[in-house]
Amino acid sequence: MAKVLVIADIKQGVLKGSTAELLSKARAIGAQTAVVAIGSNIESLVPELAAAGSDTQYIADDASLDLFSAGPYAACVVDAAGQFGASQIWFGFSESGKAAAPRVAAQLNAACATEITDVIVDGDKVEIVRPAIANKVVQRVKVNTEQLVAVVRAGAFEAAADITGTENPVKLSIPAADLKAVIKEILSDASGEIDLADADIVISVGRGAKDQAGVDLVKDLANDLAAGFGSSRAMVDGGFMAHNKQVGQTGKIVAPTLYMAIGISGAIQHLAGMNGSKTILAVNKDPEAPIFNVADYGIVGDLFEVVPILKQEIKKIRG
Ligand SMILES: Cc1cc2nc3c(=O)[nH]c(=O)nc-3n(C[C@H](O)[C@H](O)[C@H](O)COP(=O)(O)OP(=O)(O)OC[C@H]3O[C@@H](n4cnc5c(N)ncnc54)[C@H](O)[C@@H]3O)c2cc1C
Repeated sequence: MAKVLVIADIKQGVLKGSTAELLSKARAIGAQTAVVAIGSNIESLVPELAAAGSDTQYIADDASLDLFSAGPYAACVVDAAGQFGASQIWFGFSESGKAAAPRVAAQLNAACATEITDVIVDGDKVEIVRPAIANKVVQRVKVNTEQLVAVVRAGAFEAAADITGTENPVKLSIPAADLKAVIKEILSDASGEIDLADADIVISVGRGAKDQAGVDLVKDLANDLAAGFGSSRAMVDGGFMAHNKQVGQTGKIVAPTLYMAIGISGAIQHLAGMNGSKTILAVNKDPEAPIFNVADYGIVGDLFEVVPILKQEIKKIRG
């Protein structure tokens, strides 16, 4: 039986939904599940970690682990993987996951696969599925090592509604600090805006918005819906949006419940960052725009006319 160790995604003491998504998938492939939680003051999360679908919770709780540092975090994961006898180790799609996964794989002499969208287990044969070349092809890769370390793409798996687990906490010993790289401080986005990775709705603006007034119009709609506000690269290159708002191949990958692309053509590099979204709505004045090929709902029209109508209608529904 596969044994899957999931790395809990914890941000400022809060357990992120991706942990339950990964544990649900692990259960769906018939695996035994455990979770490793690393941080400071996180022991109280044990019941939540169990409820997310784990049967063992490896906890590394220490003030020295407050800020993410790839070396010590990887050491905790390797320790937990050894104790659990994990055949697969799954990280969610986060900067810390992407930084720690290759270290864990190197230490375990395991295969490392990033951006996976599926895992297929057939007896002791394991295959992973991942998009490649900016989503132009889908690779199905056979894993030949005993262990697999995987970074799962955002939104690849869904949390099962009926999932439960068992509380069985195991304390990990705290690794020595990494003297090669000491993280002094992590500066978060001070804008107070919703993080694109966490947003249930993401609204992105493209070159069709033309200028700052157009950007502000779309941003207002995002504010009305408490949505994350992103953009195409054209608006970043144009100086209208910060780079951390760029969605796409060289920006963020998002998979919200609803993605709205406003004045975005739908270049393949943009699609690479959002085509895993559950529902896609596009507003574009060109009926031939490629974004309509991936959109569930399309509005052909001038965004300067359509966005105010959307705002009005949303206000009516909410009011
Ligand atoms: C290596 C590489 C990496 C890249 N990475 C990324 C990435 O990560 N993310 C990304 O987004 N791009 C990326 N790009 C750029 C990408 O190829 C496109 O150039 C970019 O996505 C285009 O942005 P856009 O859709 O906003 O602009 P455009 O392609 O210019 O499209 C604007 C759209 O707005 C519509 N429009 C115009 N006026 C209106 C109006 N009044 N109302 C409604 N619609 C209107 C037009 O019909 C058009 O479809 C990358 C490119 C390369 C080469």
